[in-house]
Amino acid sequence: MTKGKLFVISGPSGAGKGTICKEVLDEERNIRMSVSMTTRMPRKGEIDKVHYHFVDQQSFEQLIEDGGFMEYANVYGNFYGTPKKNVMEWLEQGIDVILEIDVQGALQVKKSYPEGVFIFILPPSIEELKNRIKSRGSETEETMARRLGTALSEISSIDQYDYRVINEELDVAINRVRAIITAEQCKLNDI
Ligand code: 5GP
Repeated sequence: MTKGKLFVISGPSGAGKGTICKEVLDEERNIRMSVSMTTRMPRKGEIDKVHYHFVDQQSFEQLIEDGGFMEYANVYGNFYGTPKKNVMEWLEQGIDVILEIDVQGALQVKKSYPEGVFIFILPPSIEELKNRIKSRGSETEETMARRLGTALSEISSIDQYDYRVINEELDVAINRVRAIITAEQCKLNDI
């Protein structure tokens, strides 16, 4: 049986990758999204096991020790990781999987699973990225500066990726990601 394809969608925070993934998943029936584990607190409206597996630091560290993560990273003070089990099982069963993760995590996956398809979501400009981070409303000058610095260093890893999609207009970006997924699913050399 042909294995599923792993799509890794990442980019700086504020580029809009979460929104893009959600829209892509709503349309694509034959693709699943991995639910990450995190030590951050749930935000209003977030549901355990749907948006994230919300766990304490100790449980997270236990899974690291057990070798249960495909990748994990500390993102702005909280841990986030992709539990290996479901993703590997789905891929073995021929089901395609999306990971929506930060750049540190994507670069780890690139090493352990180079056959993945790596898609980088870019904001249209640094100015626009600043506005998007600001409009989340929870940033101080200091955390803004930190997020921007991180974003710039993340963007410098773009050459590790297979595709880049600029999220200037959301609909266009969603269609481009869909087109990449479709093209990869139709590729002959994997059969
Ligand atoms: P948020 O707290 O806003 O949901 O996510 C913060 C950042 O963590 C986002 O850039 C998101 O893509 C990233 N993230 C979410 N899940 C994972 C994961 O499993 N691994 C890694 N490395 N990053 C993740």
